[in-house]
Amino acid sequence: MMAKIYSIFRFRCPRCLKGDFFESKIYDLRKLGNVLNECPKCKVNYIPEPGFYFGAMYVSYALGVAIFVAVWVISNWFFGDISVWVEISVLVFLIVALSPLLFSLSKIMYANIFIHFDETISKKQEESVKEL
Ligand SMILES: [Zn+2]
Repeated sequence: MMAKIYSIFRFRCPRCLKGDFFESKIYDLRKLGNVLNECPKCKVNYIPEPGFYFGAMYVSYALGVAIFVAVWVISNWFFGDISVWVEISVLVFLIVALSPLLFSLSKIMYANIFIHFDETISKKQEESVKEL
């Protein structure tokens, strides 16, 4: 479980936790959410079949709902008399500002459902780094 959390928030390979998962930085809009073909370290295939990441839109949807609920709960608990329009503005701003992050997060979370951490492969990576 910790391995998956590490992989998701550091955007690393779900199997070895060493290689990068995306082509570039999350807010690089030209390469937004581009997943590499394979892990640069352990060579696990990130794209097992064409259209694999269509499923990530369900994760993305769940993340969107989570943000919506969080904003709603926070605004009602802490700012009871806030207007609906302020809430909507905050939501729209958050969703737009966070969309590259949510897009990337949804893809790597989805990959983490299917690709599992492998300790032996991860250890092998460390050894091969020492040899170099
Ligand atoms: Zn890897």
